[in-house]
Order: sequence, then C-alpha cells, then structure tokens
Amino acid sequence: MRKIDKIVLHCSASSFGDVDTITSWHIERGFETIGYHYVILNGYRKNRKYLEDDNGLLEKGRDIDIAGAHARGDNSTSIGICLIGNSDFTDEQFTELKRLLKELMESYNIPVSRVIGHYETVSGAAGGKSCPNFNVDNLRTEL
Ligand SMILES: [Zn+2]
Repeated sequence: MRKIDKIVLHCSASSFGDVDTITSWHIERGFETIGYHYVILNGYRKNRKYLEDDNGLLEKGRDIDIAGAHARGDNSTSIGICLIGNSDFTDEQFTELKRLLKELMESYNIPVSRVIGHYETVSGAAGGKSCPNFNVDNLRTEL
C-alpha cells in the first residue's frame, strides 16, 4: 500500500465528460490511463445531452492503490478527484464531493487541512493554476 496523506481537487476544464472521456484525453496526452482516482459528473457526458441521473454521479478512475497523474510532486502520496466543469459546478456535485471527502478523510486519516485545491499544491501554484476554479478554503469549512 502506498502512503496517502492528502487529497487534491481538480476540475476537468470542460463543460462535459466522464471517466471514459477523460481516459481518452489523458491517453492522447501520453498517460497510461486517466490521471484521477475519482470523477464527479455534472450530468453531461460526451454526447452533451443532459441526464439528470448523471448530475452528481461518482465514477471511479485510476485504482486508488496506484499513484495518480494529476499534481506533479504530489502524485505518489495523494488521491486526485476531478469535478466535471469549468467553474459552474452543480449543488449535486458539491454534495457528492463532500460525502466522498468525509469518507476518504476517515478511511485514510487525512485532516481537513490536507484537502487542497490543485492551485494550492507546490507545482500547481508554481504553474499559476486556478484549478479547480472554486474556493477550496470555503469548502474546508464545510467538512
Ligand atoms: Zn487540476
């Protein structure tokens, strides 16, 4: 088992998507498979047709026991979660995100201070990232 001590939050920077879509995008970029461990859908998969049941739906990406490819310098010790969207996330996505975070924080004994946005990682900040395009400080107060 690898040592997991933080959770890094991302957005897809796309208006639609799911694990299948992101897997193909990441393979095109030269990764082995999807870089994230979890994806939370906004209701729009690749066909761009809204499906209520897919709004807030959690999908599993890369196996959690395998290091992700989402935050250079932090991959080996973190879990990567991606919300589909640019900055316009749904209430259903945030509800599912908070539920998942509480579960993971308990399972891996991760304090709330170590639930961070991509922009708060060393490499993300150095790269001028704004991902996941919402205020993670506000989210932490709700965990
Ligand atoms: Zn990111």
